[in-house]
Amino acid sequence: ATPMSVMVSTGRGAHAGVLVKDAKALEGFARIDTLIVDKTGTLTEGKPTLGDVIADKGFDEGWVLAVAAALERGSAHPIAAAIERGAQQRGARSLEVADFHSVTGKGVTGTVAGQAAALGNVALMESLGIAVPQRYLDLMSSAANSARTSILLAQDGKLIGLVTVSDPIKTTARAAVGELQRLGIEVIMATGDARGPADAVGKAVGIDRVEAAMTPEAKHRLVEDLKAKGRKVAMAGDGVNDSPALAAADVGIAMGTGADVAIESAGITLMQGDLSAIVRARHLSEATLSNIK
Ligand code: ADP
Ligand code: MG
Repeated sequence: ATPMSVMVSTGRGAHAGVLVKDAKALEGFARIDTLIVDKTGTLTEGKPTLGDVIADKGFDEGWVLAVAAALERGSAHPIAAAIERGAQQRGARSLEVADFHSVTGKGVTGTVAGQAAALGNVALMESLGIAVPQRYLDLMSSAANSARTSILLAQDGKLIGLVTVSDPIKTTARAAVGELQRLGIEVIMATGDARGPADAVGKAVGIDRVEAAMTPEAKHRLVEDLKAKGRKVAMAGDGVNDSPALAAADVGIAMGTGADVAIESAGITLMQGDLSAIVRARHLSEATLSNIK
């Protein structure tokens, strides 16, 4: 690549909300045939809001929300912000938390009111040996039908309730996915979220292949497996949990609205986190490639 063609192209790209780290990333993007996209913060706004608060027998909703909010105080996850904001708006009491731990891709744990407490997904409860009764699975699947994610709350070794959060889909996501598919790129969703809400979002934006309940390592492995099959793979994500996959992809694409570590791992950054800029980046990379040849 001549420095000139790269400079011109990156300049134009920045103008269109696309920031390119180096020539390699831009050239590489023209050859991509597969794009893996994270859900939360990439296809969705990444700013979920609190929905239902459900308490099990013998507990009240105010308590469930108060314990949940206390556990989330130390977490930087968007779900934590939704629960804390919701608790504040609904006047939940403020509780102390000790021994706080964050479990990436699963949830949070701590001690609240002198008892061990945990808040997160089924995988978190499984890892702690806490049973998830059928009535919880039923509540989770009905929430999933409207693209809401259920967050389970356990105290003293058993589930005491759940809260739901919903995260609106970005207005540009469906059109961008459709345009990329028309350009011959297979779009795959990879998310840490559960199967139910993941499928609901996939359906809404037109993605057929949805990989749910993915750990950061599983996202990374998916990239490596597709590359091993000869695919040219781009990965778009916004989170700390996406950065191993971003770094492993032929081209990593970060959201400018996302975590710094994701941006550092990526070759291309979409400044406004707007997916339609991916389509512009593709056209730009094709133009750059024909300049260089
Ligand atoms: P994504 O890939 O969609 O960005 P993550 O890998 O960050 O999602 O999280 C996967 C799942 O783990 C979430 O959908 C949620 O169920 C659970 N989780 C992660 N962090 C938290 C948290 N701070 N509080 C509650 N649940 C969490
Ligand atoms: Mg994300």
